[in-house]
Amino acid sequence: MSITIDGESIEIIDAHTHMGGRPRRERFEISAKDSTTGRAFFNSFSGEQVVKAMDDAGVDTVIGFPMGGFSSEYDYSDQNDLIADAMQKHPGRILGFCRINPNVGQKSACALIDKYINERGMRGIKLHPEIDHFMLDERILGPIFDKARDCGVPIIFHSGNTANTDPLTIGHLAAQYPKVPVILGHMGLIDGSKKAALAASKVTNLYLETSVVSWMSHNFVPAVLKVGYEKVLYGSDHPYNPFQMEIDKLVKYAVQYTGWTAKELKMILGGNLKRLLEKY
Ligand SMILES: [Zn+2]
Repeated sequence: MSITIDGESIEIIDAHTHMGGRPRRERFEISAKDSTTGRAFFNSFSGEQVVKAMDDAGVDTVIGFPMGGFSSEYDYSDQNDLIADAMQKHPGRILGFCRINPNVGQKSACALIDKYINERGMRGIKLHPEIDHFMLDERILGPIFDKARDCGVPIIFHSGNTANTDPLTIGHLAAQYPKVPVILGHMGLIDGSKKAALAASKVTNLYLETSVVSWMSHNFVPAVLKVGYEKVLYGSDHPYNPFQMEIDKLVKYAVQYTGWTAKELKMILGGNLKRLLEKY
């Protein structure tokens, strides 16, 4: 595994990979292609499929969490279980983050975090305020941040350009919990990337994850240069984006604007995330 840049072997840890099945569709059916059109079609993505794709792209380890549930009360237990099982089956290759939906209520949400982090060994929490329909409100999310701090795990948010995915609001929350590393998944997407960079440059425990965002000269590059390479984490959003595409974005294209060498890429592609998972 790993890739070689300037003669140096670099370990790759992907901070944003989806796994499991999509409830309310063909639950748990493992098929990466639509049977009628033959086009890529991601109802579900198994541990075996993700490890095969990782091998093809030289990815050592992924942070894996469930796909979107499309129901505001869905508790993600069956998906989190699938990923915890895959994690056991592929030690060192898959690190699961449990997806938590605060709409299940504070008690249930905290009990689920206890179960998946403390009993099943998952390594962090994924929150998606847009798909799971909740606001970035400390009264809702405070108990989850407290739990993350007590368990010593990071939280990754889907972040974007809507009221409940706003990077500045997530940054404000993160600032109240300095012991909890908070990752801005998709670094605010295109339109939110400037706000994501502003927030992460001010809040010590706030990090940018690189998946999906492009528009190199206007959005991606100014944002990552503003926060500095130590706070940038490579992610792909696999299987929606191929691993290779998001790796190439950094190692072939972003470098032309940023001047990153093997030293910076080593940290961005895995070193920063590794340190963050060990430190807290
Ligand atoms: Zn995603």
